[in-house]
Amino acid sequence: MPWKSRWSTDIPVCSLPTYLFQSPTAALDDKPILIEGEKPEYFLTLRTYREWSKRLAAGLKKAGFQPGDRLLLFSGNALFFGAVQMGTIMAGGIFTGANPTYVARELAYQVKDSGAKFLLVGETVLDTGIAAAKELNFPSSNIFVFDSGIATFDGTAKPQKGIQPWSNLLASPSEGARLQWEEFNSREQQKDRVVVLNYSSGTTGLPKGVEISHYNYIANAHQSAFIQSLTADFEEWRQRARGIAFLPMYHAYGQTFYGVNYPKLGAVLYIMRKYDFITMLDWIQRYRITNLTLVPPIVISLTKRKEVKDYDLSSLEGVGCGAAPLGKESIVDFESKFGATRIFQGWGMTELTCSAVTWDPATEHPDPSAVGELMPNIEGMVVDEEDRELGVDQSGEFWVRGPNVMKGYWRKPEETRKTLTSDGWLKTGDVGFRDRKGFVHIVDRKKELIKVKGLQVAPAELEALLLDHPQIDDAAVVGVTINGDEAPRAYIVPKENSNATPKDIATWVAERVSRHKRLEGGVVPVNEIPKNPSGKILRKALRDRAAKEVGDG
Ligand code: AMP
Repeated sequence: MPWKSRWSTDIPVCSLPTYLFQSPTAALDDKPILIEGEKPEYFLTLRTYREWSKRLAAGLKKAGFQPGDRLLLFSGNALFFGAVQMGTIMAGGIFTGANPTYVARELAYQVKDSGAKFLLVGETVLDTGIAAAKELNFPSSNIFVFDSGIATFDGTAKPQKGIQPWSNLLASPSEGARLQWEEFNSREQQKDRVVVLNYSSGTTGLPKGVEISHYNYIANAHQSAFIQSLTADFEEWRQRARGIAFLPMYHAYGQTFYGVNYPKLGAVLYIMRKYDFITMLDWIQRYRITNLTLVPPIVISLTKRKEVKDYDLSSLEGVGCGAAPLGKESIVDFESKFGATRIFQGWGMTELTCSAVTWDPATEHPDPSAVGELMPNIEGMVVDEEDRELGVDQSGEFWVRGPNVMKGYWRKPEETRKTLTSDGWLKTGDVGFRDRKGFVHIVDRKKELIKVKGLQVAPAELEALLLDHPQIDDAAVVGVTINGDEAPRAYIVPKENSNATPKDIATWVAERVSRHKRLEGGVVPVNEIPKNPSGKILRKALRDRAAKEVGDG
């Protein structure tokens, strides 16, 4: 039977910029909230966050950016990441962020699929951006170098490799000051306007643009704030809360937390351009960090790596973990080593805007094997293979309905229909159950998706690539858990007379994909890929086989 969250909250009817910044001119706080971790003298306050966003919005409009146009940002974490997103939205456009570890082919796919009109490329990945643009004949006048933020602040940004700096896109402060953004009077308008495309392969196939509307984004942030407000000392916590932004900002999880939820609460974030474990320890000590948003491999490192004892981490009050399963042992291990620091799990997915859809209420001690309970305004349901509703403690596919369910997949109505039911349920592809206390447990995944260190790997993409190899007839890729993390493992049918070894194939793939998609789980030649009569790969059989061959067991 479907069940509802025990809480509900009124989702404000307004645009996302209004939710975050009140209005284009309201007086805003000048407390530093987004701080460049390496050089903390560079920072944004809520007021200057809005100011830079407005300058970009005004500049984009001057450059011919029309409502509904897409801007793609291909960059690691940076001080102005959120301002690019907000500026794009203030200009009436749609923001999309791409994984900065992408190779040119992967980036070109997203630029093309989103139909981006402007491309902002981080200076450290400029070569990849240029190569992707070349592949697509993307006009170089619409490409801009996105610096770490310091050169923009100092007004010293210069063209690099013939590409102009993104500061050329910024209107002057006075032009920015005059910018207004579109406001909504009805929920329908708010639901209708897409603000972000976050790429996800969903339950099957290639990465797709997940359409997130103003309403989705606001609901997601509002739910998080609601849950946070249940803590006894919420107002004091807001004043002292400090986090580190190291999860990738292009991904829904980091993007929603760092760009909207934290700034909305007035909490402080130190921005880390690229995740590094030791730097994270150093900053926790140096900046007296209170809260972290983590993925399982980082939790495991915190419990296992010997360097941890060299740092004073006593300021840590709470850590949240999501994006992939975290074993019960890891939670117990964490709690025994970090006595006073609470750890709680959340579960979410890009199609659900993504800060979290289930979460442990901050008021209660979590059940370590659960991912928490439904956030406000969310309904859940567990169904069997024939979509029949299941009861408490019965495992099946987990479905979710609520204000943060995506509008659909960008220009993919067929895929949207397969994932969203006509009455608004999102089929998550995750397998789990609800226990008697209302806690959700995720026990398996029925969708194809593989998650490596919390990042998505779409088997369909690797399979298509393998089929391009001149010595491969057929291929299937599945995930296998090795040392607590998933890795993609390929089963291939070599062509007759093929002399490529499994290692050759793994190397060939590694040269064509970003690091997390490499076939670290191995390559196995087989005579035939197991398929059902209609030609669908029997992934469960292969996953079981992989688990037996090399998995953690
Ligand atoms: P993404 O869209 O990249 O955020 O990936 C969403 C998927 O990650 C979910 O559908 C789950 O398969 C997995 N996931 C996220 N959080 C958790 C969690 N706490 N436990 C288990 N799996 C999770």
